[in-house]
Amino acid sequence: MKDTILRLRDLSKRYVTRQGAWGKPYTVSAVNNVSLSVERGKTLGLVGESGSGKSTTGRLALGLEKPSEGDVVFDNAPIPAAGTAQWRKMRTRMQLIFQDPLNALDRRLTIADQVREPLDIHNIGSPEERLDQALAVLDAVGLRADHGRRVPSELSGGQRQRAVLARALVMKPELLVCDEPVSALDVSIQAQVVNLLMDLQESLGLSLLFISHDLKVVRHVSHEMAVMYLGQIVESGETSTLMSAPVHPYTEALVSAAPSPGGNGRKRIVLKGEPPNPAARPSGCVFHPRCPVAQPNCRTESPKLTPFPGGRRVACHLAKERLEKQATGQKCYDLHSFA
Ligand code: SF4
Repeated sequence: MKDTILRLRDLSKRYVTRQGAWGKPYTVSAVNNVSLSVERGKTLGLVGESGSGKSTTGRLALGLEKPSEGDVVFDNAPIPAAGTAQWRKMRTRMQLIFQDPLNALDRRLTIADQVREPLDIHNIGSPEERLDQALAVLDAVGLRADHGRRVPSELSGGQRQRAVLARALVMKPELLVCDEPVSALDVSIQAQVVNLLMDLQESLGLSLLFISHDLKVVRHVSHEMAVMYLGQIVESGETSTLMSAPVHPYTEALVSAAPSPGGNGRKRIVLKGEPPNPAARPSGCVFHPRCPVAQPNCRTESPKLTPFPGGRRVACHLAKERLEKQATGQKCYDLHSFA
């Protein structure tokens, strides 16, 4: 039986904004009816182009933003209202790792002081015990005591991201929400930080919501993944299944563009155009203006995110037909002839 630590239920987030000081107000739908769950000790990868609503979903998951609709359940309890004592207590069990470690750290304080700070705030242990704990966590992420005596500008990008991880881990969280945690790092350092995250997950039993636009990283770290497009989940399921046999045309385009060690055997599909403006969502299927195999009804009928055997969910009118073809080894629609 699944042991779910985080559940997002029918979450939507809308913002009312305006163009310029005197412009007419309009509504932007950043997240639209998103339901996801993260299993204890596992990683859910959330992937999609920039502006697809991934980061907003992460902030909603932590209670940093209030949903317009839907709710968030952490360890079988609803997330309390942000700013309350109950929320602060729950937040110690769920930590956020930012994209840019330099902005996440205070440039004036030493690394050890910053790693120790959450323990100081919550008054956990004596000052000596807090320092010992900070040094132990720094050691766990591969930093030495002398790194702890430096300020952020005296560390490399990879060391800074390790320090951010140490600061998050010092409170012994159960869930980490990692928002593009390696995209600001050099490629050579990315692998080190990703492997460190996976080692820590195994040794500490951490659960991860791993948000990234980079499918090759998500494929490496995630047990399950969900693909977002214009604020909606268009396909989700086990990572190995989605990577080897994507059903939604958008997932297939992303998979075809993700480099893999032995090549993924797929010709790259280049989608036409840019993702539409979230303030002017297309009618019917939101992907139809870019979909190489859109049907006439795709312009008017919005496909529901439908569950299929094996835990996969897909939002596409052609999903059933395509899965049947995959099951019998027949050729599915050929996106390359349209792209
Ligand atoms: Fe393409 Fe239609 Fe499926 Fe949307 S519903 S992904 S437009 S085929």
